[in-house]
Amino acid sequence: MKLLVVTSNPHKADEIRSYFRGGIEVEDVRLECPECRHDDVAEIARYKAEFAWGILKKPLIVDDTAFCIDSLSGFPGPYAAYVFYTIGNEGILRLTEGKGREAHFETAIAHADSSGIRVFRGVLPGRIVEPRGREGFGYDPIFECNGRTLAEIPLEEKSRISHRALALMELQAWMLAGGTYDVVSHNG
Ligand code: IMP
Repeated sequence: MKLLVVTSNPHKADEIRSYFRGGIEVEDVRLECPECRHDDVAEIARYKAEFAWGILKKPLIVDDTAFCIDSLSGFPGPYAAYVFYTIGNEGILRLTEGKGREAHFETAIAHADSSGIRVFRGVLPGRIVEPRGREGFGYDPIFECNGRTLAEIPLEEKSRISHRALALMELQAWMLAGGTYDVVSHNG
């Protein structure tokens, strides 16, 4: 079986490929999908999966990830990409100086096939720290979970324990159960 991962982020594709290693064959497709604005990554992922299905008509998944800081009322949340490319990790460290640094990642994986769209979530709690480590991407160097930043964790391990991995576990459980037991229509 082959699963298409629609993403323009090669790090996400590598993590998903590593998660499924030895099982499902994963192929990444760089299709630019329009993004809807929404507070919930599940809705953003669903919208992109719907668009990608309309073009590719093959079983596929889309990942959308939020980075949420408790003391900033969940900021940047689903706007994590924009904030990363504007103020970056240094900006996040400045904004949280003297404040609570609890944070979490939330990944929504939307799966599309001929039966419809289904969304799976994974949440990883942790805290913001001074940058450490050279692995990973994005906010990984400033996000600590159980004593290590995600950038201190090799790909093979991150791809088993991360927010993305937790969402993929839900997807995998659903696939192993036969996939289409709870069909959601393409219209929502
Ligand atoms: P998006 O899901 O592509 O919108 O990504 C949101 C932002 O969060 C991007 O700036 C990514 O770099 C960042 N991001 C997404 N997933 C991760 C992750 O697993 N670790 C660190 N940063 C991430």
